Amino acid sequence: MSAFDAAALRAEFPVFEQTIRGKALAYLDNGATTQKPRAVIDAVTRFYAHDNANIHRAVHTLGERATAGYEGARAIAARFLNAPSPNEIIFTRGTTEGINLVARSFVEPRLQPGDEILVTGMEHHANLVPWHMVCQARGARVTHVPLLDDGSLDLDALPGLLTDRVRLFAVTQVSNALGTVNPIRALVAQAHARGIPVLVDAAQAVAHLPAAALDVQATGADFVAFSGHKIYGPTGIGVLYGRSEHLSAMPPIMGGGDMIREVFLDRSTYAEPPARFEAGTPPIAEAIGLGAALTWFMGLDREAALAHEDALLARATAALAAQPGVRLIGTAREKVTVLSFVLDFAHPHDAATFFDFEGVAVRAGHHCAQPVMARFGVPATLRATFAPYNTEADVEALLRAVARVRRVFTE
Ligand code: PLP
Repeated sequence: MSAFDAAALRAEFPVFEQTIRGKALAYLDNGATTQKPRAVIDAVTRFYAHDNANIHRAVHTLGERATAGYEGARAIAARFLNAPSPNEIIFTRGTTEGINLVARSFVEPRLQPGDEILVTGMEHHANLVPWHMVCQARGARVTHVPLLDDGSLDLDALPGLLTDRVRLFAVTQVSNALGTVNPIRALVAQAHARGIPVLVDAAQAVAHLPAAALDVQATGADFVAFSGHKIYGPTGIGVLYGRSEHLSAMPPIMGGGDMIREVFLDRSTYAEPPARFEAGTPPIAEAIGLGAALTWFMGLDREAALAHEDALLARATAALAAQPGVRLIGTAREKVTVLSFVLDFAHPHDAATFFDFEGVAVRAGHHCAQPVMARFGVPATLRATFAPYNTEADVEALLRAVARVRRVFTE
């Protein structure tokens, strides 16, 4: 185990100041959403207590402060992804909205009957359903890179799937159901060699990979979508990064205030990106909270924090793998944060209910990845997902919870 001080980090999170059913909270549902450090809670509270105003149009002091906070958060997000310009950062409600924006604005207008959108067998529904929708509207189809038995991509199949009909390759960087880390740089290079743009779903990647893996100039990704709430920020805010040459050629998909250049009674012209894609009053406090979260996260000793989290995952994985009646789903060599498993003595939902008696919060279900469940022949899994504020005590609590379920269901 690394020397990382998880207890000190944990003390920054007020949520851990409580017990659950008389037990310490072992929060292992970080893949669904992360807890919020005081720095983020304070930033949001401070905005509402001192700076609250609408942005961009006001010349009064509060309006200027709110605008500076919102645009400052955009600059922080650009720095987080090493985007060449803050104008390549569009604030969205989250990963889902970012992907839908690309589907409607970038892909749909150029999609012809017979065209293809290439995805993978490990995508979250957020990176499947938008493609189904635009393909259905245009007579195009969704193809996919299949999975190997360990939950990694069948990379040998990729060249044959990058056909001249593919208009976009949409791929997750980290699987939320399996934890697999995909080799984004190599995937982008292969797609670009065929002239195919790439969208990266970074929802699970942003909080669990080193900065170099998320650097858009290094990966070459055309679009990157992520959600604030999965990286210690508020809900209701996310980021879509898009290369400027794409964004400036894309039409808006929502019309209203703040996204226009000029409006007449019978027509309007549009602002440049990113404003073009941010119609209406945006989630200002949430964006400021996201800026605080990214600043907080970039201020961590990220290497040590991620090594700590990886060590907990490895320890929990080894302990469960050694037990009879436990099947791990997703055993790729390159994986982070996610421990997905099924018990042959209890249904995932029943087990998760008993886990809560031990103060252990995990997710049970298909994790919005039904094709992954189908690939592995299970209706659902239990999923523990780790963050740097987790400790060995959380791993012990998880193992105790599994033992309790085994006793209840087999004795
Ligand atoms: N993509 C992945 C890989 C996810 O794990 C999630 C959320 O669980 C999403 C997309 C959707 O994120 P959101 O619901 O925040 O839009």
